[in-house]
Amino acid sequence: MKKTYNIAIDGPAGAGKSTIARRVAEKLGFVYVDTGAMYRAMALYFLRKGFDLKDEDKVGKACREISVDIRYENGEQQVLLNEENVSGLIRTEEVGNAASAISAYPAVRAALLELQRTLARTSDVIMDGRDIGTLVLPEADCKIYLTASTKVRAVRRYKELEEKGMVCSLEEIERDIIERDNRDMNREIAPLTQAEDAVYLDASAMTIDQVVEKIIALARERGLEQ
Ligand code: C5P
Repeated sequence: MKKTYNIAIDGPAGAGKSTIARRVAEKLGFVYVDTGAMYRAMALYFLRKGFDLKDEDKVGKACREISVDIRYENGEQQVLLNEENVSGLIRTEEVGNAASAISAYPAVRAALLELQRTLARTSDVIMDGRDIGTLVLPEADCKIYLTASTKVRAVRRYKELEEKGMVCSLEEIERDIIERDNRDMNREIAPLTQAEDAVYLDASAMTIDQVVEKIIALARERGLEQ
């Protein structure tokens, strides 16, 4: 079987990973895999059940009751939680923060690893997350560490939420982002770090199109034939 081409994008919350990865995928005819959505789906399960998210043992054991799967509708990733399509329910700050809390647990990460690797083995993918270049796909053909200043990321998140009609405070969002990054970068298991062979891209002063073109150029330098 022909080897698939894999692009890994890691970086902190709100750096634009998903928007950019989606566009790169469209341009290259790749599958976009949003691993954050998988953690969010698991978090939704625990929130619905009213679990104390600090109870690692209980959360870990309950992972056996959960199946997360993804499918694609019109090229868009849909996340299934025990067969239910929860894609429209996982984009809140509450679910994002809960995902960050439970993703520090080995049992939660183990539950998703195989799915992520299988997707990369069977399709050309651009996969985004926190540990894709370091742990999930260490052999990825092209690795990017995408970031932007905290201020830029907070303003983006603020606008996104505002567009959805949600009332929010910029200060609160910035505080939230800093807290979430701290948790993601300082956890013991799968912390967010730049892989040694990843290209560091600070997108604070770049447009989305510039970042997309840069990533495609980097992939071509790294053996992508198209
Ligand atoms: O990227 P997104 O904001 O949707 O991710 C939600 C949370 O899921 C992150 O804050 C992070 O803690 C966790 N996550 C992770 N590993 C990934 C993707 C997301 O730990 N590969």
